[in-house]
Formats: sequence, C-alpha cells, structure tokens
Amino acid sequence: MPIRRWIDDTIAWTYGSKGEFSVSSFRKRLENCSPNDQTGSVFQLKGWCPPKVEIFAWQLRKRSVLVREVLCSFGMGQGLSKECLLCLSGSETIYHLFIHCPWSWQLWCTGMSWWEVLSCPNNTLKDWMDGWSGLSPSPRCAKAWCMLFFAVGWTIWEFRNNFIFKRQKSILEQAAYMVKFRVVWWFKFYGSGAQHSVSNMMLNVKESCISIAIPRKLSPGVWIPHVGEKLKFNVDGSARGKPGPAGYGNSQSLCALRRESSPYCP
Ligand SMILES: [Zn+2]
Repeated sequence: MPIRRWIDDTIAWTYGSKGEFSVSSFRKRLENCSPNDQTGSVFQLKGWCPPKVEIFAWQLRKRSVLVREVLCSFGMGQGLSKECLLCLSGSETIYHLFIHCPWSWQLWCTGMSWWEVLSCPNNTLKDWMDGWSGLSPSPRCAKAWCMLFFAVGWTIWEFRNNFIFKRQKSILEQAAYMVKFRVVWWFKFYGSGAQHSVSNMMLNVKESCISIAIPRKLSPGVWIPHVGEKLKFNVDGSARGKPGPAGYGNSQSLCALRRESSPYCP
C-alpha cells in the first residue's frame, strides 16, 4: 500500500531540503551528530586545495598522522629514535613537529609575514587550528589564508618525509618557497579572481591572493505569446513586493494589469 495515494513511493534523503542527497547536507548531519568535535570552518572540506592535502589536515586534527611518537605508541618504534629530525632538539610528537619545532615555527612565521601577521603558538594543535581563521587579516584574504595553513602543514610533513626516506636536507628557504608556490598555485586554480600570472603573484602574495566576488550572470528573459485560444497567466514574474503590483496577460490582446503608471506590458 502506498504511503500517500496518487504519489509513487520513492527513496528520499530526509536531511536534504528537496529529498535529494547532497554532500553539504551530509556534512551538516555529521556535524550535528558530533557537536563536541566541531571542526573549525577552515578545516571543512571546501575544495580549496588538493583532496589529499585536505584529508591530511583532517588526519592532523584527529591526531592520526604517524609521527614517531604515535608509531612508538603502536609498538612499531623498536629501535627508532623519537628525536625530531627537523631540529634534532625535541621529541617528534604531533604538536612538536607541526607547531613547537623551531624549524616548523619559523616556517609558520615566514608564511604569516607575507600578510604582516604576527602570532605565537597555542598550547595545543587543536587550538592552533581552531584559532587560525581569527588571524586572517581581512575577509578578502580568508581563502588564501586558509590555503596558507594547508600549505605549511603539508610542506612540513613533506620535508620531514623527504629527510627520512630520501635523505634530503630540510632547508628552510626551500620550504618557504614551496609554501608560497603552493598558496599561489592553489589560489590560481581553486580560488577566484586571480587574474595575474603565477610568477607575478609570487612577488606579492598578499595583494595577489584577494578574493573578488564574481557578479552573477542574469539570463535575459524572453516573453513568447501563445498560439491559439489559450490564456497565458504570468503571476509571479512581474510581482513586486509582498503584497505589491503584479501582472497577468493573455495571448490575444497582449494586455496586462500591472500598476497604474504602466497598465500595459508588451
Ligand atoms: Zn623539531
């Protein structure tokens, strides 16, 4: 027996406004399920950088990045030194590697200096991630600022792994260049309004990576009269205000009732 007569039963996604599945409705549903673990707006999957980088940031927040301390806690660190390989002066915990390590912090400071922002490290990685949006110098820079976070985190991890697996030296200047290149390239590719070349943007990241609102394109409306003895009502297209002047017309006389000052429409 159908649930509603005259309407065929269908499968509907009840968390979407139209009964259709969408990623945004799924994300909102997930957030409502875990209100105590709200991710900062920066770290929602917005598609502002490559997916592997966004997923890495999510793993970072979940403290599931396999630094040496985590490997040892899994019993996989036999014979493995816990020493941070970027500074050789601390134990490689997630907090140390990504925030407190002098090498990493210098990279953060370099990135922030492009926007003339100064800050000090938070006590926890979670606080650092949650507070990142608040450090953004202006709303127009928010997208590039978010990209900077992803670029720094990803570059720290890349240079750390290159040292371990490829024996490449972790040179801070190279890392800073890579961070800047990533921010510019991602902004060029995923951002909006970047009209400059990558090389020009590299010269001034702050002024180049500004989001510009793109005006909506309005398609011109075309009114086509009906053929034959039919009435054509236009009840919403010319409505203005609630309530306000509205109009209707028919195909034969092409008359319309709108407002006193313009009683006819073409
Ligand atoms: Zn270190």
